Amino acid sequence: MLLGKSLATWCQEYPLLNQLIALQETSWFNPRIARAAEALQDVGLTQADVDDASARLVRFAPYIASAFPETAASGGIIESPILAAPHLQALLAERYGLNGSGALWLKQDSHLPISGSIKARGGIYEVLKHAEELALAAGLLKLTDDYALLDSDAARAFFGRYKIAVGSTGNLGLSIGIISARLGFQATVHMSADARQWKKDKLRAHGVIVVEYDSDYSVAVAEGRQQASADPYCHFVDDENSTSLFLGYAVAAERLQQQFKDAAICVDAEHPLFVYLPCGVGGGPGGVAFGLKLAFGDAVHCLFAEPTHSPCMLIGVHTGRHDEVSVQDFGIDNLTAADGLAVGRPSGFVGRALQRSIDGYYTVSDEELYRLLALVESCEGQRFEPSALAGVPGMARVLSEEQGYRARMHLTPARMAQATHLVWATGGSMVPETEMAGYLAKGRHLLQAEQA
Ligand SMILES: *Cc1c(COP(=O)(O)O)cnc(C)c1O
Repeated sequence: MLLGKSLATWCQEYPLLNQLIALQETSWFNPRIARAAEALQDVGLTQADVDDASARLVRFAPYIASAFPETAASGGIIESPILAAPHLQALLAERYGLNGSGALWLKQDSHLPISGSIKARGGIYEVLKHAEELALAAGLLKLTDDYALLDSDAARAFFGRYKIAVGSTGNLGLSIGIISARLGFQATVHMSADARQWKKDKLRAHGVIVVEYDSDYSVAVAEGRQQASADPYCHFVDDENSTSLFLGYAVAAERLQQQFKDAAICVDAEHPLFVYLPCGVGGGPGGVAFGLKLAFGDAVHCLFAEPTHSPCMLIGVHTGRHDEVSVQDFGIDNLTAADGLAVGRPSGFVGRALQRSIDGYYTVSDEELYRLLALVESCEGQRFEPSALAGVPGMARVLSEEQGYRARMHLTPARMAQATHLVWATGGSMVPETEMAGYLAKGRHLLQAEQA
């Protein structure tokens, strides 16, 4: 029994569950989608909150440029480029049997400095915000100071009295651990069993304490939260509920707006924008989608992508039970090679905040992620980690859907012909060469097997 109902009753009420439990690739377009002006009222945060986060990142830019010289070229602003992907688009059209429609682009969060994944947005932002609060309260810093002064032994000694803790499948831990240790904090990362060894090694090399668990992400988070709550000097980064993480991600949208302007890409009702976001617990894709809705309103259509073994957000939103249910409750194992996405229970905050803002949700098999990893490398020369490929099939899901979604959203063929499809490629540049070679070999092998 689950929340008072048998599994059979659940499946009767939500037939889509049968497909998800059978681990079939699934797409679901949200019938409750509402206009942005109305839907965003569910979030409880506004443009002013995103502006505040954006301004904070600008204040910290001199510090980031000083502490991480690789960001000097962008003046200490942590941002990734966009890249047109015409070859990939042609391959996808062939692979999924599509008629060319619109233009496909990649958002290379794989190349974000410092931690090589989308977590360099929210994760780093939350630690900076906490550091700023502590330093302001102690009189170590004024809002008008050049924040580069925080890159000093005196500041590190001050932050050394405080601790930062987080639970993670890998990438969030990398981001939080690296920035926390660089500022001088005592950082602890609670890692789930699926976290890659190289991520643990890298963190330890930065002086971060890594605590390993035999269980999945939810347990690592719960343990971390428990240990941190007993210590008043410890700040726990709560991936499931944090609004500052969420706002750090949301700042991506105004940056993207500028990048589109520079690339002469128009986004409006006649030129819709589709954004495909890999989803784990939901904070990253949720924060980015929130920012995108504020920036582009009803012209942007966001879809979340999950592994077939971890469709936690799809199930949470589809059933309306959010974090009250996990994929394991339905007999789905949450075992996937897409380590950033191996999350069995979604953020209840994000699921509820965006329940009328996200156009659709879909799942991708691990095998397909590997095949796409090899395809993207061969046709665009880009290397991503498996989770980062989840956005790639999104365009095909939208173009081939037969649930009446495009009609409902007035996405006419004329509009679709002028659409921009943006795949959020969430990570990969820090994957070690040997590990990446293994991913590529696996992907090529699966592609060959498919052709045979
Ligand atoms: C964490 C992560 C995501 C998803 O972010 P959530 O906030 O967990 O939903 C997607 N891709 C990669 C590579 C990640 O590390």
